Amino acid sequence: MSAQYRSQDFDAEFDVLVVGAGGCGLTAALAALAAAPGAQVAVVEKADRLQGNTMLSSGSIPAAGTRWQRAAGVEDGPEIFVEDLERVAGAHEAPELTRRLAGVSAELVEWLADEAGVNLSLVQTYKHVGHRVHRLHSPPSRRGADLLNDLYRAAESRGIPVAFGNPAVELIVTPDGAVAGAVTEANGERTRVGAKAVILASNGFGANRALLARFCPELATAPYGGSTGSEGEAVLWGEKLGAAFANMGAYQAHASLADPHGSLVTWTVVEKGGIVVDPNGDRFGNETVGYSAFAALELARGGPFHVIADARVRDTTAGGQEEYAELVSHGGVIEAPDAAGLARRIGVPADRLERTLAEAAAAAEGTAADPYSRTAWGLGALRAPYTATRIGPALFHTQGGLRVDHDARVLRADGSLIPGLYAGGGAAAGISGARGGLGYVSGNGLLGALGLGYIAGRAAASAMRR
Ligand SMILES: Cc1cc2nc3c(=O)[nH]c(=O)nc-3n(C[C@H](O)[C@H](O)[C@H](O)COP(=O)(O)OP(=O)(O)OC[C@H]3O[C@@H](n4cnc5c(N)ncnc54)[C@H](O)[C@@H]3O)c2cc1C
Repeated sequence: MSAQYRSQDFDAEFDVLVVGAGGCGLTAALAALAAAPGAQVAVVEKADRLQGNTMLSSGSIPAAGTRWQRAAGVEDGPEIFVEDLERVAGAHEAPELTRRLAGVSAELVEWLADEAGVNLSLVQTYKHVGHRVHRLHSPPSRRGADLLNDLYRAAESRGIPVAFGNPAVELIVTPDGAVAGAVTEANGERTRVGAKAVILASNGFGANRALLARFCPELATAPYGGSTGSEGEAVLWGEKLGAAFANMGAYQAHASLADPHGSLVTWTVVEKGGIVVDPNGDRFGNETVGYSAFAALELARGGPFHVIADARVRDTTAGGQEEYAELVSHGGVIEAPDAAGLARRIGVPADRLERTLAEAAAAAEGTAADPYSRTAWGLGALRAPYTATRIGPALFHTQGGLRVDHDARVLRADGSLIPGLYAGGGAAAGISGARGGLGYVSGNGLLGALGLGYIAGRAAASAMRR
C-alpha cells in the first residue's frame, strides 16, 4: 500500500488486484500467488460470468522448446521463434517484448500444465500462420473455453476471489503518480479497493468504436467478432497517467467468420487446400498469407465470400477441431456433387466457379503457376464432391496498448515506471507489427495474454515481498 494512503481510505485491501478475469488476468493471479504464497490476490471482472476473448479463442498458445515438442521430435527454440515472429511482424515498436515472450514461452506452457493444471498438448495436425514448426499448444478440444475454465478452476481451488459483475471504473492514484488500487462499481455502489500492485488484464479496445476510429481508422465500421468487454479502459486510464503506448495501429482480424452462424471457420480448411471466392466465383488473393492478412483483402473488396473445399478437407478438419465439427453438423458447410451444383447453391456464376476451381487445381498439381503465387495446397487439388461455407471478415482484437518493460510494468512516455501498475494481454502492447492485420502470427494474442500475465504476476509478487 502506498504510504500516502491508509487502510481507512479503502473499503477493501489486497496485495495484488487484477482487473479482468480472462486468460491474462487469471494467469497473473495464479502466478502472483504461486510466487508469494499467502499473499492476498483478488480479481475483479466486469461481466457477471467468465467471458472475454480467451473464452472465444481456440486456445492455441505458441511456445518454443517445450517437452511436448521434444517428445514429438520438433526442433525449436526461442531464437527460431523470434525469427518467425519478426519475419511476419516486420519492424515495430516493441521488439524487446518479442524476445521476452518467445524466451518465456516454454516455461509458461509447462507451468500452466504442471502448476495450474491446464490440459494442454502440442497441436500436430496444423502449424497455422507464421510458424515453421509445430509450436501451438492447446486444449485437446481446441477451445479457449476449456483453457479459461481450467484457469478459473485453479484460481477457485486456491481461494483466489473473482468478483464478477464488478467493473473497475477508475484507478486510485497517489498525488505522486503511483497506482494504489482501483474503484469498482456494482449496482450503483462504488468500492475503493486498495492494492500494492494493480495488474491491468482488461484486454484491448476492439469494442470501442471511438478508440478504433482514432488508432485503427480502417476498422472503425468493420464487423467485430471479439468480446464486448474489450472497451479500452486501459488506454483511457493510461493516457491520464502519462503512460507510453506502442503498436496502436496493429490488430488481428479474421477472414472467415461463418455467415450467419457467427462461429469461426478454422483457417485449417484453407491450409488443407481450401480457397476463398468472391460473389463472382473468383479468387482474389493468396489465401496462405493467413487469416488476419486475408481479412484485409476481404474488407477492401466487399462480400459475401465463400470458402470452398471438398469432402476430404471437411472431414479431416472436423476430425480434429470440435467447433468446426459443430458447424458441419449444424448445416454450416454445404456440399454439392460438382462445381456447377455448388455454384447454384451459393449463388455465384457456374462458369466462373468452374474456371476458378480448375485453375486452383492446376496450381496445386504444379501444372500451372498460381495467379496469386500460392504454393502450399495442403491435401492437394480440391476434387468433387465440393463444400462451401459463406464467410465474412471481422476484427477479433486489437494488438496495441500500454508499453511495458521486461517485468510487465507500465512505462511512462519518458521511460520511467508508473509505480504499482502492470499490464498484459490486450491491455499491453503486442508483438504483431506496428499497424494493420498483416503482422499477426497465430497465437500472438494468447502469448501476450498468458505470457505477460505470468510475468506480471510473478513480478508483482516479488515487488511486494521487497
Ligand atoms: C474468436 C477469437 C479467436 C481467437 N483465437 C486465438 C487463438 O487461438 N490464439 C491466440 O493466441 N489468440 C486468439 N485470439 C486472441 C486472444 O483471444 C486474445 O488476444 C486474448 O484472449 C486476450 O486475453 P486477455 O486476457 O487480454 O483478454 P480477455 O480474455 O478478453 O479477458 C479480459 C477480461 O477483462 C474483462 N474486463 C474488461 N474491462 C474490465 C474492467 N474495466 N473491469 C473489470 N474487468 C474488465 C473482460 O470482461 C474480460 O473478461 C482470438 C480472439 C478471438 C476473438
